[in-house]
Amino acid sequence: MKTDIQIAQEAELLPIREVAEKLDITEDELELYGKYKAKLSDEYMERISKNPDGKLILVTAINPTPAGEGKTTTSVGLGQAFGRLGKKAVIALREPSLGPCFGIKGGAAGGGLSQVVPMEDLNLHFTGDFHAITSANNLLAAMLDNHIQQGNELGIDTRSVVWKRCLDMNDRVLRNVVVGLGAKTDGFVREDHFVITVASEIMAVLCLADDMKDLKQRLGRMVVAYNYEGEPVTAADLKAVGAMAALLKDALKPNLIQTLEHTPAIVHGGPFANIAHGCNSVRATKMALKMADYVITEAGFGADLGAEKFMDIKCRMAGLKPDAVVLVATVRALKYNGGVPKNELSAENMDALHKGIVNLEKHIENLHKFGVPIVVTLNSFVTDTEAEISYIRKFCEERNCEFALSEVWEKGGEGGIPLAEKVLDTLENKESDFHVLYENELSLKEKIETVAREIYGADGVNYTSAASKQLKKLEELGFGKLPVCMAKTQYSLSDDPMLLGRPEGFSISVREAYVSAGAGFVVVLTGAVMTMPGLPKAPAAFNIDVNEEGVITGLF
Ligand code: ADP
Ligand code: MG
Repeated sequence: MKTDIQIAQEAELLPIREVAEKLDITEDELELYGKYKAKLSDEYMERISKNPDGKLILVTAINPTPAGEGKTTTSVGLGQAFGRLGKKAVIALREPSLGPCFGIKGGAAGGGLSQVVPMEDLNLHFTGDFHAITSANNLLAAMLDNHIQQGNELGIDTRSVVWKRCLDMNDRVLRNVVVGLGAKTDGFVREDHFVITVASEIMAVLCLADDMKDLKQRLGRMVVAYNYEGEPVTAADLKAVGAMAALLKDALKPNLIQTLEHTPAIVHGGPFANIAHGCNSVRATKMALKMADYVITEAGFGADLGAEKFMDIKCRMAGLKPDAVVLVATVRALKYNGGVPKNELSAENMDALHKGIVNLEKHIENLHKFGVPIVVTLNSFVTDTEAEISYIRKFCEERNCEFALSEVWEKGGEGGIPLAEKVLDTLENKESDFHVLYENELSLKEKIETVAREIYGADGVNYTSAASKQLKKLEELGFGKLPVCMAKTQYSLSDDPMLLGRPEGFSISVREAYVSAGAGFVVVLTGAVMTMPGLPKAPAAFNIDVNEEGVITGLF
């Protein structure tokens, strides 16, 4: 079997102008980045703004194994399948983070015969959006420290600085650093921290902003520190908004690339799925809805985190309304949820499947709470057995839930036709009655408890005294009406990664809460959350190379 990068490199790409042409985009409306990548101009966005919206399809998944269950692969394959059925479809995905490509995880361009290309570009520097975000983030940090150095007129308490520097690299030694060492002219000494670029609030802001005006307002609201009175100091207070916005001017424009079968794919923005909402940009999604009859998008992690935040944060803020949800399951993740260790997932195990399928059941119930019709798809692996597949099919059919086997990894769009047909059928026959899970008016604790009970299946929520104090303070500061952005392990419905399947009789422990005022949500941390990953003992970087012809190997 060929590797993902081999398949991607053997693909015959169309010039992106030709992909655009099929969508009636003129050359003038494209900002070309070489032959195979382009940004879509504001003029184009303006021109299509009156078009009717296509249907919005969210791809999400059950609780995964550490390897990922194929949401991106399914999204790409489904888009390709629509193409084969002669439907006008656009895929709207997140841009991968560069750091993890050199660690364990690898890139995020899909897999097998369902990938977006050029995958090396996408996984590495792409069109420079992440560079722009990194620069804007670090400009703000520099202006903050300079403000303190130049007399600290705003009375910033250097022990209460919350803005962190960022870098798009897995670099654990930067998690905790000391800045300002040296002479008087070298600044004030304080403890500082780096996060990976995708964890910067600017990434979340860029992804939720409607336009440049909204982007600036959001940037201005970002809290960078607290003063000696405990009041927030914002990026606007530091007069950093205009310069940051200038750096982000082009990053705000969605990027167009293609799949292996030349289906258009808009790949734009990539916020973390824990301390942020984990979806591609609102601008890209809205643009895609004006461009095509069907838009397929993905949310990070499992449905308990990704889909919940897609609905309760992104759709709530942007006024989007999903028409259908595709819930990806795999035999291996169901067995993992049934207690099988990750190195034994290839062997048939009906017992474990039986035990683990309650996880799928809970996600089906959860998604119904948002009023959106669901299609379950089994992302087929070559190791799946006939007995395992028919068990899952039967489980869904007995619950009156649409089901389709997906073979997009192995067969590309062709392998996604049964799924595409099920989705089309669902869109035609089932009305979406989309609604968010909770109202803005609830208190922050009531919101957290609603998500914990309804989605995670918890009996209740415990708060550390620090978290209770922070939530109270955030309400006093006027942030009580914001939605909550839950940061939790993706491996369990609970906050304990070891509790697999469909845990019961547990409570969620909230350890910390803070506001991302620019993004417009209150981040609620359950358990430890990593915002600057590290590299493993044998990082993927060992195997990555480029030859004299410029061909890259070892990326996956
Ligand atoms: P997610 O978006 O859920 O994180 P991806 O689509 O990125 O998952 O897939 C994760 C990894 O699994 C990729 O390396 C991909 O090539 C691989 N993969 C996905 N589906 C299959 C499959 N059906 N068979 C084999 N490998 C797969
Ligand atoms: Mg993915």
